[in-house]
Amino acid sequence: TVRTRVAPSPTGDPHVGTAYIALFNLCFARAHGGQFVLRIEDTDQARSTAESEQAIMDSLRWLGLDWDEGPDVGGDYGPYRQSERMELYGKYAQQLVEEGKAFICYRSAEELDALRQARREAGNSTALKPSDLQLPAEEVAKREAAGEPYVIRMMVPEGEGHCDIEDMLRGTIELDWGMVDAQIILKSDGMPTYHLANVVDDHLMGITHVLRGEEWINSAPKHKLLYDYFGWDMPQLCHLPLLRNPDKSKLSKRKNPTSIQYYQRMGFLPEALLNYLGRMGWSMPDESEKFSLQEMLDCFDLQRVSLGGPIFDVEKLRWLNGLWIREDLDTEELAQRMVEWAYNAENLKRVLPHAQKRMETLSDFAPLAAFLVSGTLPIEEASFAGIKGEREDIVRHLQFALWRMEELRHWERDAIWNELKALAEAEGLKVKDFLAPLFVAIAGSAASFSVVDSMDLLGPDMSRARLRHAIE
Ligand code: ATP
Ligand code: GLU
Repeated sequence: TVRTRVAPSPTGDPHVGTAYIALFNLCFARAHGGQFVLRIEDTDQARSTAESEQAIMDSLRWLGLDWDEGPDVGGDYGPYRQSERMELYGKYAQQLVEEGKAFICYRSAEELDALRQARREAGNSTALKPSDLQLPAEEVAKREAAGEPYVIRMMVPEGEGHCDIEDMLRGTIELDWGMVDAQIILKSDGMPTYHLANVVDDHLMGITHVLRGEEWINSAPKHKLLYDYFGWDMPQLCHLPLLRNPDKSKLSKRKNPTSIQYYQRMGFLPEALLNYLGRMGWSMPDESEKFSLQEMLDCFDLQRVSLGGPIFDVEKLRWLNGLWIREDLDTEELAQRMVEWAYNAENLKRVLPHAQKRMETLSDFAPLAAFLVSGTLPIEEASFAGIKGEREDIVRHLQFALWRMEELRHWERDAIWNELKALAEAEGLKVKDFLAPLFVAIAGSAASFSVVDSMDLLGPDMSRARLRHAIE
């Protein structure tokens, strides 16, 4: 039976690209009566967070991209979180070393730099090969005795020639072996790299088809080698075109919001966003622009994916969302959506304490809280008129604040406050003065709730989007 998976790394905001890849994996599995698996690739322990994992799961579920097996729902092939499968990877890496298909490497970072430099000067690719990395036996023994750190790298071909990768959409892709380096498969801390963990898990989880972004094409030869080394069948590969900004560059948050939560917070309907993602590279047989997940499933055919880079255009998405709002929801349903989206009791209870202090009548609430249920605010240069300081200083401070907020991993009031306070001090400003332009960027006015509370209420995606917008 067909088994597909989506394998996000929980290292940041849930990306629309992840939902796009998940959608195609789900459709492919369903179209073949198979299963769709969610696997969390959290081997990078320094960058992975439980918060991000939860946000990814919440976002995919919000969109209706339900998985048959995964960390929260279980299944026969678990655990579905790589951090819970660590002993496995060490065992497989060791097996490859014993069979001469991988080797222990004691090279230091400086040595690696020098080796790359030497290859560059010789006019070769900088992909380090096993022969570059080999050390004399006595040197290895010395470093081992000294307890120096080592990694495990995979063997790769050294000679000329190319590797043929079969892609379900692209046919045979030829990749030059010369570009394939002796990839680290197990790091010095015993953690696997993506390549090893991904191959081991796809095999053990019975994955038959891997639909993933085209950014992974260059990794395919390494994966193919690993499957050969282990004597396993490689799943069929399909590299989907990456989403692009309207200027054709790879979709990036500098140019377009990429977090699913931003679109949720903006008030897009999940079915409209899913519809739009479905149109990225794919089309209905009758070319209709508006279709539900069920309609997409009913006539899904991978061969209808076109390889030209699909453009993720927020204006187009707004238009489509408008169609869904007008054509698919009656008043009753729209009321229900509004309540769920912002006007539920839980939300009101978070917001009201901030408004209450400033309210004389109930009708004072709407203007006070309007910025919390708005999208991008109509901010322009004149909006900052009452604020002390030169325009360029204001922009710089907003930029600094944005950078800090982009780095902030745990979005909560005290953490936001500490970051902004530290910035104000570093700039030699009173916190109040430093925060004044942030009030405008975040709430549209200097007379609002505490900006830290506002950012906490708005969440990371909308807060960052507003800071970015104010700087533009
Ligand atoms: P970076 O700029 O570091 O590449 P990113 O914006 O691509 O960051 P990642 O955290 O690397 O974000 O990617 C998160 C997930 O979204 C990955 O699974 C990746 O494959 C997918 N993804 C990222 N960008 C795109 C894109 N343009 N199209 C499709 N999927 C994407
Ligand atoms: N963890 C990888 C990612 O974040 C998975 C890539 C793959 O599908 O092989 O995109």
